[in-house]
Amino acid sequence: MSFLPFARPTIDSSMIAEVAETLGSGWIASGPQVLAFENALSKYLSGRPVRTLTSATAAMEVALQIAGVGEGDEVITSAQSFFATPNMILKRGATPIFVDVNPATRNQDLQATEAAITRRTKAIMPTHFAGLPMEMDALYALARKHDLRVIEDAALAIGSSWRGQRIGAFGDLVSFSFHANKNMTTIEGGALSLPTEADAQLVEKLRFHGITRLPDGTRDVDTPGGKFNMSDVSARLGIAQLAHLESFNAKRRELAAHYFKCLDSDPPCVLPARGDEGHSWNMFAVLLPLDQLAITRKQFIDAMHTREIGVGISYEALHLATLYRRLGYKEGDFPNAERIGRETVTLPLFPEMSLADVERVCESMVQILRMWRR
Ligand SMILES: *Cc1c(COP(=O)(O)O)cnc(C)c1O
Repeated sequence: MSFLPFARPTIDSSMIAEVAETLGSGWIASGPQVLAFENALSKYLSGRPVRTLTSATAAMEVALQIAGVGEGDEVITSAQSFFATPNMILKRGATPIFVDVNPATRNQDLQATEAAITRRTKAIMPTHFAGLPMEMDALYALARKHDLRVIEDAALAIGSSWRGQRIGAFGDLVSFSFHANKNMTTIEGGALSLPTEADAQLVEKLRFHGITRLPDGTRDVDTPGGKFNMSDVSARLGIAQLAHLESFNAKRRELAAHYFKCLDSDPPCVLPARGDEGHSWNMFAVLLPLDQLAITRKQFIDAMHTREIGVGISYEALHLATLYRRLGYKEGDFPNAERIGRETVTLPLFPEMSLADVERVCESMVQILRMWRR
């Protein structure tokens, strides 16, 4: 039996041939493939302006800059996301204000968000956990009521939709990741979906040294931009991946439904929120009933590894990281994020898995959890 990883990109021989063609074309840095990829992404997102970057982390840093977030500002964000989200807020000189998540959806609690708003709040930066969209009407109503910018961390939500509209096809600043573990990949990479063409122009400047071109052919810089432009090699892979995204996500939904079918009648652990057809299922993350088990999470993961099954952890409670404890956060601040941080494990889910693989994961998990039940 071969090892089943918890995530794996789907890259077929035609995609490899297309990437090889770009590699041999004489133009491998940002060029025509990046333009074509951005046009395809824009079309996928109902015609909104879209620009690519080297990662979602870069996209969030640039989005915060475009939203005017800086020194002295506060940005309200989820205590259950990836480190990149609050890190970029801090990197802009602003303060991340964490709030707890809904224990079922794992998405940022909007009541807690409203309660955390102060005079200094500039933006809300929520994550669509595992590809399950936030309550978008309520999120944007809250932002409008308090005149706040929204930066959606949609790293896990390419292809997700809210009431028939794709995430990134509406709203304020929406950042996507094309890291190898996401629903489509450019190896490393990301994109920003933007409200205006002027914002897109600003992204072009900020992702490439802050350079603007002058009429006499020379260049000028008025802002210290970064170096976040995507390569044509990555973009070529992105074009091919995007063409398959709907089928990748359909397969993810089918596999998630099979997990529920296998685990629903007598769940050995807490199952994720089901969502609806708008859920893009980047991950199938469950909570282990650790208080009823005689093993630790690490021992569970090791036992799954022994059975040739990869298991991940997403995410640690952000406010308990050393960096954020320095801002005064501590145990007990956000009970839902902390419980999830302690108990969560991510089971294998990627388009090339079979339904039999799902059954093997469930059987192994049930066996291990039954064996160590106190
Ligand atoms: C993967 C991920 C990121 C970071 O994406 P990169 O492209 O690796 O920078 C940010 N936020 C969330 C929620 C993620 O899952």
